[in-house]
Amino acid sequence: MPEYISKDDAYRHFEELQEKHMKRAEKVKEKIPDYYERSLVRMNEVIDAKSFILGMPAADVVPVVHGKWENSKYMAATKCGVCGEDIFLDDCEQFLEWKYCPICGAKMDLEE
Ligand SMILES: [Zn+2]
Repeated sequence: MPEYISKDDAYRHFEELQEKHMKRAEKVKEKIPDYYERSLVRMNEVIDAKSFILGMPAADVVPVVHGKWENSKYMAATKCGVCGEDIFLDDCEQFLEWKYCPICGAKMDLEE
């Protein structure tokens, strides 16, 4: 199963990295020209990574909401701790084994 990351966070990371390389390079520009040259190469690689990230297609994903089943005020029901909907046995007899709320989609993986 693929894992998704934030495109903005990844881009921001490489922007900070580019700035870090730039500052280091400027510090040693006069004293260590070889290091300065290597820093420029690294910065170009970072710029390539930023361009790559910007060009990637964005996936249509929704953040996972975590919840747990709670006691319902009805005898033959359970309640979603996230949306508060009562899920009746008539609707889904196996609700205690459900890993997701059928109403809001919350993942039922929080501990008691
Ligand atoms: Zn729910």
